[in-house]
Amino acid sequence: MAVTGRGPYDPQNVFAKILRGEIPCKAIFENEWVLAFYDIAPKAPVHVLIIPKNPYVSFMDFSQTAPAEEIAGVMRAAGQIALDLGLEENGYRLITNAGLHSGQEVPHFHIHLLGGKALPAFPA
Ligand code: AMP
Repeated sequence: MAVTGRGPYDPQNVFAKILRGEIPCKAIFENEWVLAFYDIAPKAPVHVLIIPKNPYVSFMDFSQTAPAEEIAGVMRAAGQIALDLGLEENGYRLITNAGLHSGQEVPHFHIHLLGGKALPAFPA
């Protein structure tokens, strides 16, 4: 079910549980700013979720309240992951859903990294 992407951070959301190690994930990258892992229901041959370690509800929350150093760290990590996965040559897509109209389901800011095939025309 879509979430508003606003309001207080819910520490019981699924990504908070993954960050605390309470439920497993297939992690592919971790540094001081982010954890990245494969989406449980992939929408493309490569479908990775990149999440900040700190508790932001949505892109609005992250972009407006995170320190600039952290914003840079998260975006730099996203690019690094695309490189590590060999996606640079053929391209890839980054998406973040924010709030009800986007269909955001998990109220912890995350970036979808999609690639590995020619993706449908945007929006899909
Ligand atoms: P969004 O609709 O942007 O909030 O995307 C949430 C994404 O999280 C969806 O693509 C789900 O398939 C994915 N997801 C939900 N639970 C898990 C989980 N336990 N491990 C990995 N991905 C998950």
